[in-house]
Formats: sequence, C-alpha cells, structure tokens
Amino acid sequence: MFIRVAVPIPSAQTFTYAVPAALVSAVAVGKRVLVPVGKRRITGFIIGIPDEANCSQEVKEIIDLPDTEPLFRKEDLAFYEWISRYYLHPLGKVLGEILPGGIALRSERWFFRSDKAATLDQRFSERQKAILEQMARSPKGISLSSLRRVLGRSDLYGDLHSLEAAGFVIAEERLNRPSVRPKKERWVELRPDLPAGMKFTAKQSALVGILRDRGAMPVIALHKTLSTTLASLRTLEGKGILRLFEKEVARGPGPAPSLGRIDNNITPNEAQTMVLDDILQCIASGRFSPCLLHGVTGSGKTEVYFRAIAEVLKGDGGAIYLVPEIALTGQLLSRIVSRFPQQEIAVLHSGISLRARYDQWKRIGRGEVRVVVGARSALFAPVRNLRLIVVDEEHDPSYKQDDRLRYHARDLALVRGRLSETTVILGSATPAIQSYFHAVGGRYRALTLPTRIDDRPLPPVEVVDMRTQRDERGLTPLISGALIEAIRETLAGGRQTLLFLNRRGFHTHLFCPDCGHVFTCPNCDISLTHHASEGVLKCHHCDFSTRAAARCPSCKGNRVRSYGAGTERVEEEVKTLFPTARIARMDSDTTTRGGDSQRILRGLDRGEIDILIGTQMITKGHDFPSITLVGVLAADASLNIPDFRAAERTFQILTQVSGRGGRGDRPGRVIIQTFTPGHYAIRRSQEHDYGGFYADELPFRRQLAYPPFSRLIGLQFSCLKKAEGKKAVAEFGARARALALAMTGGKVEVIGPAESPLARIRGRYRWQLLLKGKDSRSLHLLSEKLLEGAGRDSLEIQVDVDPVNFM
Ligand code: ADP
Ligand code: ZN
Repeated sequence: MFIRVAVPIPSAQTFTYAVPAALVSAVAVGKRVLVPVGKRRITGFIIGIPDEANCSQEVKEIIDLPDTEPLFRKEDLAFYEWISRYYLHPLGKVLGEILPGGIALRSERWFFRSDKAATLDQRFSERQKAILEQMARSPKGISLSSLRRVLGRSDLYGDLHSLEAAGFVIAEERLNRPSVRPKKERWVELRPDLPAGMKFTAKQSALVGILRDRGAMPVIALHKTLSTTLASLRTLEGKGILRLFEKEVARGPGPAPSLGRIDNNITPNEAQTMVLDDILQCIASGRFSPCLLHGVTGSGKTEVYFRAIAEVLKGDGGAIYLVPEIALTGQLLSRIVSRFPQQEIAVLHSGISLRARYDQWKRIGRGEVRVVVGARSALFAPVRNLRLIVVDEEHDPSYKQDDRLRYHARDLALVRGRLSETTVILGSATPAIQSYFHAVGGRYRALTLPTRIDDRPLPPVEVVDMRTQRDERGLTPLISGALIEAIRETLAGGRQTLLFLNRRGFHTHLFCPDCGHVFTCPNCDISLTHHASEGVLKCHHCDFSTRAAARCPSCKGNRVRSYGAGTERVEEEVKTLFPTARIARMDSDTTTRGGDSQRILRGLDRGEIDILIGTQMITKGHDFPSITLVGVLAADASLNIPDFRAAERTFQILTQVSGRGGRGDRPGRVIIQTFTPGHYAIRRSQEHDYGGFYADELPFRRQLAYPPFSRLIGLQFSCLKKAEGKKAVAEFGARARALALAMTGGKVEVIGPAESPLARIRGRYRWQLLLKGKDSRSLHLLSEKLLEGAGRDSLEIQVDVDPVNFM
C-alpha cells in the first residue's frame, strides 16, 4: 500500500511513501503520519491513497500513524488545495497551519490491555506476550515511547497493530505534555456538621460568618478579605471547623460571560423581515449564495444572523459565525448561548488552549457540535453539512492573517461557500469597497438594513477643524476645547465617554497644521513617510524620495511638522484635565493577556469607567448603551498611512466608532478632530453616507487601477545585511520586470521594489515589491516563476496574495 503525504516543508511537492503491512488497517486520508524526510522525521498529513507508487525512485516506508481518527476528510482537501495554490503556500504547511495545533501538536499513542487478553494463550508470539505483560503492569495505559524503552526495542508497531486489530489491545491517542495542564485551586468551606455553641475568637467568628454567607470559596479570595494564612486555616481544619479541598478550574472557553444587553424576544421589523426572506430562500436553495448585508450600526444585523442560524439548525445543518477579533467572541458568545440554550456552541480562536481547541475540533468533526463561533481561524472548523457562514464586520482588516499563511478569512469564506454550496453572509455597516463593488455588480446578493432599530437616530457628528485650534502656548493641542467641554458635560451627566485614537499613528507623516496639506507621492497618491533622521520623505510603494520641506507648498506657511501620538500620551493628558474621572485604556499594550479586554469591557458595562481610551479594538461591535460621547482624536492618522485603502479605512473607522455612540435610549454625540475636514472620507462619515463615500472613492481606484479594478500580489524581502539585501532585491526587481514583459506582455505591472515603511524589524532590513494586474492567473504564474529558485541566499522572501497591510 502507498500513500500520498503532504509534509510541512517549504516545497510545493507532495511525497509517496509505502505502508508496512502492520499499519495498513490504520491508514486513512486526514490522519497525520510520521515519515522520514532526508535524515529527519517529520509529521505530515495523508492526502491520498494511490493504487500504485507511480514513481521511479525508491519509496521509503512510513514510521508511524499517531492518530486514531482523521483530522480532516477527503472532501475537505479540495478547499485546502485551493488555499495552497492561491496563496502560493505548500500544502503541507497549509495543513500544519490550519489544523488545530498543527505541527506544533505532539501526540502519542497509549495502549491498554483489553479484557479479552486476560489469558495469555499460545497464539501470541514471545514478543507479543512481552508487550501484553508489560501492559498488565500499567492498568492506566502505557505510552508507546515508555513501552519501547522498557522493552528495549523500537520496532513495536507491527505487533501492536496486530494485537489491536485482534482486539487484545486498545490504543488511545493522548497529547503529551499538554501546554495547559488541568488547573487546580484550593477551596475552603465550613464543616456542615459544625457543632452549635462553639467558642470562637473575634477573627475566627468573622471567618465563620463569611463562610456561612458565601458557602465554599477559593482560599485566595478568603486571604484577600481576611488576611488569613494557609497555616491558620489548616489549624482550624484540624479543629474540625472547616474543610480544605482542591477544585479543578474549568478549561476551554469557559462559561459564556454576560456582557452587554441580551434580548431574546425580538420581532423582526419590516426591513429585517425582507432581508430574512431572501436569506431563507438562499439557504433553502442549497446552492452557493453569497450575500452582502449592508446595515448601519444598530440596524439589527445580529438578529438576522441569529435567525439564519436558527433556520439551518432546524434542519441538520451547521453554521460558522466569524467575528474579526477574539475580544468580540465573548460578547457574541453570551448573546448566542442565551439565544440557543439547547445548542452546544464551539468557540475557536488562537486564544484558546491547544488542548481545548483540539478537543473541540474533533467534536465538531464528529457532528456533535454544529455551531462554531470564532475569529478568522474558525473558518477552517470541520463543520458537518455546513449550510451557513456569517462573516460579521466583513470589512475588518483583522480577517487578514499577516504571517505564515497569509490568507483572508472573508475571501476564503466565499471559497469554502462555493465548494460546499453554502450560503455566505458578509455583513457590515461599512462594507469593503471590493465587497460592495461585487454586490453592485450582482455577484453578491445585495441586502440592506437602512435604518437603526426603532428609527433611533444615528448620532450627530461634529467635526473640529484642528487647523484653527491653539493651546495657551500657541501649539496645536491633543484635545480641542470643544471636545474637553463635551467630556466635562458627559461626566457631569454621569455618562460614559469613548476616546478613540488610531493604532497606526506610529506612521509619521509630514503635514502643515495651518492648511492641512499632506505631502503625498506623485506616483502613487499615498502619503509619504517622514524619516526624521535622514531628513527625507519616502514613498513606500515606489521608492520615490524627496527632501523634507520646511515650507508648505500649498499655503507657504512655515510650521510644517510631523504627526503621530500614542494612547499613553492621551491618557496622561486626560488624567491631567479630569483628575477625578475613572479612566481606562484599551489597546494592544493593556490587553496582552486573555481576559484583559473582557475585564475592561465589563467595567464599562457596570459603569465603573467614565472615560475609555482605546484603539481599533473599541470601534468594533461592542454594544454599550451608556456611552453617549465618542471623541476621535486624530482622524488623519489613518488617512495618511501609505496604503491605497487609507481613505476606505478612515471612513470605516470613523463610521464604526461613531456607531458606538447613542445605542441606548439617550442620543449620542460624536466629535471628530481633523486637519482635513474637507476630505471626502471625513465628510461622508460625518453624514453617515456610505453610498456617497463609495461613489467618491471608486473613480480613484479606477484611475490608478487599484483593486477592485486589479489584483495585487505583494512580495516582501528581508535580509540581515543591508547592502547585500538591497543589491539582491534590486536584481530581483529587474528580473521581475523582464519576466513580466516576457510572460504577460506587460499586462502585469511591477511596482518597486521599495524599502518597507517599517524598514527594519528584529534586525532584518525589509523591502517590498508589488505585482499588479487584471488577470489573477497571469499574476500567479509570474509569481510562481519568480519564486522558483528564489530566496536561497540570505534574502528571505514572503508572498502576500491580495495584500492588506503595506507596512
Ligand atoms: P447591528 O448588529 O446591526 O449593529 P444589533 O443586531 O446588535 O445591530 O441590534 C442592535 C440592538 O437592537 C440590539 O440590542 C438588538 O437586541 C436590538 N434589536 C434588533 N432587532 C430588533 C427588533 N426587530 N426589535 C427590537 N429590537 C431589536
Ligand atoms: Zn510612490
């Protein structure tokens, strides 16, 4: 027997191996397999069982098959192969990346003796008897490696498999050294048989009082309230007053947190009903039905998703519901669990322990769990009879993974939907230009929820022109007078304020605070990055470079300066302005540990926070009714990043963050600070006018042939040595131009190479090059050709198909 194996190595090839007789019965597509590759042993994945080896070289034998059940099915392979081809990423690496724990997962087989083997009869060979005897000594099972060690032999699998096949031995797969061990906590409770009338000291009676009130509680919590010590508790245990015990802390996603509002008795309004009619039709058709649900913030999109899921569950279908960020799964989970109390819901994202993810993956694969909620990687969950994929906030760049396998989960949701003939709902208040383009063009079904629930108004948006703002020192302030006044009023009214700062403010651009002029690239129409140390402005697409000017070419003012501010500075400033306010900051620095953002959001929910300062994270999805003021500190920060989607991102961010306000019964208010109040991205978001924005933006895309009028493949280079790398990159660029001409007749344009905006990361110098063309196939062929034999030297090359991040 032969098998086809994909191995996670940087090679597009797959390999054929022979299977020794003893392992034949255990072979299945979708199982992992340990194989020799050169001098190494690597865990690969079985992707096929061909009739014959069909290759001239000598075929090696596999070493082991660690899985008792497959991690994927044959039908799933078409999807994985599509991903591998499209993202120019070897199949073995794709599998290593998207299967739970992937190649990092170490598992081992354990063996038990079955009852059947109680009497050792003659049929067993001496070797088999030795194995069975060893197993008899380990009633809890013995691992393959221990067995090998005690028996001093490594060639056990033949005997083990025949014993297993005959039912004398039971094999089970266990993950060894799980990255997360069962977590235990020490708890304390009063003895239920505590005799009445016992005499206590003051401290003891306080303790007994607390335990009587609260029942059993964690010792740590008790220490905090009463400053007890473990020794003192032990003494009391000895006296028969209380009992100490260990309790396992639940693993996995844990109980659903209760956050935000929950409402299960909703009657869909007219717009929701119309949209749902369409969606239910799509689901009933059993065909691939891509839909774009464009609904303003608070228009009841989530309710539509829930009803679509309910429909799928009525049959025997399954659904995947994606949200852009892990921080959002908590709030969604509490809503969805309360909505489908009978249904088990799986949560999959990278913040969940390896073991829990692996367990859930298998349960989903067996059809025991039919609804999966999670961030982008949840798209790969092996849901049985998948009938629906929801991609909420589909415009969000977090759906794009920017390392290893660089995929876009929204795009792949459509691919998976097509391959499995499924309804796919992309939902957003601010659809990606590309998605809207397809909806307008009829490729996606266009669904609309035009107004907020109960016709609650969208909050009025005031734009503060920062060019006219000066503080007492004559400088442009971080927070304008109008915003300070509004925060003061909000605090006085006991309401909450959200202050938003763009995370990507670290890109410093040069601008004129008097007229708002920004220095942009004459070739690419993106803003130039200010390199203060060199005194130059650079374009990070085409490598255009010019000296940083001291004088504004537009208004001839001489106060040109660079701009960029962080959340920490804002926090300091706000503390100085409002010393008694309760202030919290939520950004990637303050939310490094799982649960951090939950804690902050819960604090907001309970009214323990007056002012929340945050980055992108706070613009998404959260529904907090008592936020009545939203302030955007530097709307231009995202407008001036070197990216052709800068205007789109800015419009989306501003509209989403405005949508956070006024969700409750009280109207909200939004204040946007900007140096370019006339920019269409700012004006259109002020008017809550997506259609207008789309109409303004599209001509620019067409004119410069950016997506959706073309496709892009990015190549990123990095090298430890600057001069060497620069030379190699330049040669690569020249070769790319020559090949583009020869292979595509110039239909693919080569832009760059240019230094990356983040020119050095972890000691490596970075450059980038863009391939742009209308035809995806010729772009792919060219890229493949370029990558052949490339990256062998010290120059590392990464491919980024449909790049989102140009930093
Ligand atoms: P979106 O996802 O579009 O931002 P949500 O689905 O979160 O909006 O809905 C906003 C709020 O309106 C939620 O609190 C939700 O419970 C409520 N809601 C949704 N649909 C209705 C309806 N038909 N009638 C009353 N309330 C609704
Ligand atoms: Zn340029």
